[in-house]
Amino acid sequence: TTFSSFTLDPRLLQAIAALNYSTPTPVQLSVIPPALEGKDILARAKTGSGKTAAYLLPILHRLLASKDGDSSGSGGGEAPAAATEALILVPTRELADQVHKVIEQYTSFCGKQITAVNIARNISDSIQQSLLLSNPTILISTPSRAAIHFNTETLSLSSLKYLVIDEADLILSYGHENDMQVLSGALPKGVQTFLMSATLTDDVEGLKGLFCRHPFVYRP
Ligand code: AMP
Repeated sequence: TTFSSFTLDPRLLQAIAALNYSTPTPVQLSVIPPALEGKDILARAKTGSGKTAAYLLPILHRLLASKDGDSSGSGGGEAPAAATEALILVPTRELADQVHKVIEQYTSFCGKQITAVNIARNISDSIQQSLLLSNPTILISTPSRAAIHFNTETLSLSSLKYLVIDEADLILSYGHENDMQVLSGALPKGVQTFLMSATLTDDVEGLKGLFCRHPFVYRP
């Protein structure tokens, strides 16, 4: 099986080819088709399994599909600022940097249609706020920073369509339960959730109850 057997946007397939990925990994093979159909995903996958592409490729594909459908976008003029459509929650600064880098690789053939910012970096509150004011398509954050900016209304989640909770077991081990409660209460209806975790503990099952509706479960 190759990546071109998925109905992915050609700009994403081009990026995958440029990265020399030849075949999808097991988690990618299982998760990408139901994710492209819009299903919530719960996946047991650790670092090195290709888990990042398993959630990013379907999200990027669906973001691109919705942008191509916008009637306003074709004139080459300045696109109006859009609100954040995808939120990627990670436990650590290091993982946030990695995910940001991968998004830039995967969107390198997409022009400026999709923008991503990382507020988990070691930056001041005011720089975080100015990054949020740029209305990125994709926001990468730790749960605590996302919850703070939601509480102070520098972050609106009203346009959110995709939520990723990456390394969910680590997020919980860092004691982010309250932040996750705050964020779950802030989500609009119909958000597609990707819950990725190296281990499926009872705590992770709890997050599943908070964030997922009838998820496709990948548990190798
Ligand atoms: P991850 O598990 O998402 O941290 O990915 C681990 C590494 O595998 C990263 O360096 C990815 O760029 C790479 N990778 C992901 N998917 C594939 C693939 N299908 N073929 C080759 N390398 C991949």
